[in-house]
Amino acid sequence: MKLVLLGPPGAGKGTLSGNLVKELGFLHLSAGDMLRSEMKKGSEIGKKAKSFVESGTLVPDDLIIDMMINVLDGEDNKVGIILDGFPRTVAQAEALDKKMKPDLAVNISTPYDIIIKRLSGRLLCKNCGAIYNTMSYDKDTCEKCGGELYQRDDDKPETVANRLKVYEEQSKPLIDYYKNQGILNELDGSKDSKVLVGEFKKIMEMYK
Ligand code: AMP
Repeated sequence: MKLVLLGPPGAGKGTLSGNLVKELGFLHLSAGDMLRSEMKKGSEIGKKAKSFVESGTLVPDDLIIDMMINVLDGEDNKVGIILDGFPRTVAQAEALDKKMKPDLAVNISTPYDIIIKRLSGRLLCKNCGAIYNTMSYDKDTCEKCGGELYQRDDDKPETVANRLKVYEEQSKPLIDYYKNQGILNELDGSKDSKVLVGEFKKIMEMYK
């Protein structure tokens, strides 16, 4: 199963992916996590991506397409692969179709007031990438690995506004792109994350 997760930043793509990895054994490939890791290493890709990621704009298509196609070359998983945050433009979706046609696209729609509240309290583990929120978690270390928690620079309010605008203009058209392919399904991202896993499993059954 090759799954594409769509939705604005903060919709819950990362959290759903984490649960699907844990419960079903999916492989999670997050374009944003990979870019942050390249930036941390100071690699060529990281250096090229830095100013785009920090300002909440999309890195150029050719850069992200090359990076993701390279990653997909080396990856396989019996249960399935989750592509989280890729594609984010129609040009990326077309490039992906040529490499590995997705079986299923799931759009997580979440009202923007919930997204803004979520992102302003979102914390990530520096070590394992686990996602927390100050609304429901009051420690400053990760309960899974003890790693230090931090707020992403691009989760600060001024950058979030830009990321939502970029989503509307460049990524939202993907909903129609996958609808036209007949593989689009919807999840309501304002629901509890455990409920979403259950709903996802039902969708997955239809595509087996
Ligand atoms: P995310 O962790 O998915 O919120 O992504 C963080 C940032 O990485 C985005 O705001 C973009 O700057 C960059 N990014 C992630 N995925 C893509 C993509 N598919 N195309 C272009 N830029 C991306």
